[in-house]
Amino acid sequence: METTPQKLEMFYEGKAKKLYSTSDPDLIIQYFKDDATAFNARKRGTIEDKGVINNQISELFLTLLERNGVPTHFVRRLNEREMLCKRLQIIPVEIVVRNLVAGSMAKRLGRVEGEVLPRPVVEYYYKSDPLDDPLITADHALVFGWATAEELKQIDSMALRVNDLLRRFLDERNIILVDFKLEFGRHHGKVLLGDEICPDTCRFWDKATRQKLDKDRFRRDLGGVEEAYHEMLRRVSA
Ligand code: C5P
Repeated sequence: METTPQKLEMFYEGKAKKLYSTSDPDLIIQYFKDDATAFNARKRGTIEDKGVINNQISELFLTLLERNGVPTHFVRRLNEREMLCKRLQIIPVEIVVRNLVAGSMAKRLGRVEGEVLPRPVVEYYYKSDPLDDPLITADHALVFGWATAEELKQIDSMALRVNDLLRRFLDERNIILVDFKLEFGRHHGKVLLGDEICPDTCRFWDKATRQKLDKDRFRRDLGGVEEAYHEMLRRVSA
């Protein structure tokens, strides 16, 4: 049995998670909350048991990725709401991968939601609450020193590999992976996939009915929010 380092002070509280230092300077504890926000926290609420579900779904996805050669920050799940992770120096660039048009892409480019893209599209966003995470180019990330060219190359290839692996896994469970957001960070000089992968950070549509099984149900007041999160956990656990 591995020993778990002692949980120390909270050093970050975000919209959906709290991060705690531990007695091991290389490890942190990620705590999943039920709080839900959308539109950069202009809409707020709670989704019952969301933290418990997202912790389990993230564990499942991060384990699948790690097993298939994508290095992640995940160490192990500790309990219902906490996972032990490697400490990252977060790269302030969010990566979105899209297979179908939805959300901000539909709005920004005047496309119909559901249009199938001929190949996956990778986008970068600057991680900044005051600026509402603006869309950026790779050049912005380079000139402002947010990431190096080598890191962006690794991030791109990891993001596309994540897309391939998750898409295949979800397709077998009758789910379309529409799009998702990833975050990366540095750990002893190595780029690792961080954060969480769950219905808060991905769009999942049922293959047959196109029913939304993700946070869009909360963002767009579609109802059945809790049910969708439970259904996703049920499908990925099967
Ligand atoms: O809103 P948009 O269409 O740009 O979102 C693309 C994908 O990234 C969606 O799956 C959404 O859940 C995710 N996302 C996120 N965190 C953000 C912005 C988007 O998880 N701050």
